[in-house]
Amino acid sequence: MTSDFSCLRVCFLQYSEKVSIMSFESLNLNPNIVQALTASGYTEPTPVQTRAIPEAIAGHDLMCSAPTGTGKTAAFVLPALQRLSTPAKPGRGPRVLVLTPTRELALQVTAAVSKYSKFMSRVRTGTVLGGMPYPRQRKLLESPLDILVATPGRLIDFIDQGKVDFSRLELLILDEADRMLDMGFIKPVEKISAATPAGRQTLLFSATLDGGIATLAKRLLKQPKLIECEATKENHDNIEQRLHYVDDGGHKHRILDHLLRNVDLTQAIVFTATKHGADRLAEKLNDTGHAAAALHGNMNQSQRNRTLARMRSGNVRVLVATDVAARGIDVATITHVINYDLPKVAEDYVHRIGRTGRAGASGIAISFAAPDEGHQLKQIERYTGQQIARHTIEGMEPKIKPRSGAPSGDRKRFGDPRKRTGDAGKPRRFGGGGESRWSAGSPGANAGRPSRDGGANRSRGRG
Ligand code: ADP
Ligand code: MG
Repeated sequence: MTSDFSCLRVCFLQYSEKVSIMSFESLNLNPNIVQALTASGYTEPTPVQTRAIPEAIAGHDLMCSAPTGTGKTAAFVLPALQRLSTPAKPGRGPRVLVLTPTRELALQVTAAVSKYSKFMSRVRTGTVLGGMPYPRQRKLLESPLDILVATPGRLIDFIDQGKVDFSRLELLILDEADRMLDMGFIKPVEKISAATPAGRQTLLFSATLDGGIATLAKRLLKQPKLIECEATKENHDNIEQRLHYVDDGGHKHRILDHLLRNVDLTQAIVFTATKHGADRLAEKLNDTGHAAAALHGNMNQSQRNRTLARMRSGNVRVLVATDVAARGIDVATITHVINYDLPKVAEDYVHRIGRTGRAGASGIAISFAAPDEGHQLKQIERYTGQQIARHTIEGMEPKIKPRSGAPSGDRKRFGDPRKRTGDAGKPRRFGGGGESRWSAGSPGANAGRPSRDGGANRSRGRG
């Protein structure tokens, strides 16, 4: 599938270089939408917005990829709002449905809708997500709606109960389609789209269009316009990337403690491989005087909201999170991202470091690598096309020389966090054989690949 797109990618790259910076007015957005953008402090659309908004307003289906933090939310929310100024069919059901893989993202999209519709008259927006009581959401679905933002699982529950009226649905939007696939939402998403009118417009947004996205797109989109905004060097220029080799768990923790004592660190997200790992590390950090809190998928929605509120108010300085839970977190005061455990897939690295350097600020991303994690590291560097600068701290230099090449699987010294959560024996995403997504196009890469919504995905933990 990658080979199908590689020629298109070149075409679009060439095209993208010709795209000049525009104003929001020139995208033909309603004046009251433009007013809200100005009030938000936006002066010009980002490249993905420049390219996606006119095509979406023209009514085309879109298959759109752009790196994390490049403004994809507005790229679909603005055309959705624009659509609401056209006459609606009779009925009460939503005219626009946005599906997101996680609850945090759903809330973030809902917040974006209210922000950008601030000067419009009456946009009725509802959010349906897991981990919240049913009755209130049931009531919401019975009331008139313009925009519904939902996570797939909970929405399916309501569809099965016959509680959702899609008779006047005009626009279906999939946000973070890559993550939907990773989380095994492909069947639910197809089921939901089958419940919507066939004549609808569909917009698919994703950080990448690799892996199974093309298959999903083929089933859901009609003659989609392909918009690919490649990660440019500038996208990472505001994020300084560093790497520390660590000998063992104790060494890793000493370096983390040292880094967290840096006064230039305002707030940090520390990524762990597992939920239990996040809990344990947050506890340990609190014991050693750091204001830390964990954020992961085992917490219910109100616990997560509380933690994020404490982060926003500055009461929490260090958020210890898992990949899925940290999706969509947009806190401008996060100065540091620390990969305590390296991500399982190379592109998660990009998602993680995108949690800092928000809204034009600069950020620092620090990763720890064990001597036998050279393979993961190489995959990340090949994916980003950048070498991560090696750093040492005086008095804390590693004693073990890093090994390059395939991992030895010797994780004893680190007490492999994956093993404690019952992940042992499941297919690992790293470990040779082309298991990572970016290498999907290389010859023979599919041999021995774990199924996308099978074992490998179960090991990720739901947000
Ligand atoms: P993505 O979905 O691509 O990861 P987001 O939609 O979450 O990115 O946007 C990232 C950040 O950029 C948000 O804080 C958002 O408010 C901001 N943003 C979006 N569009 C613009 C713009 N045109 N000008 C300035 N900031 C913007
Ligand atoms: Mg997004």
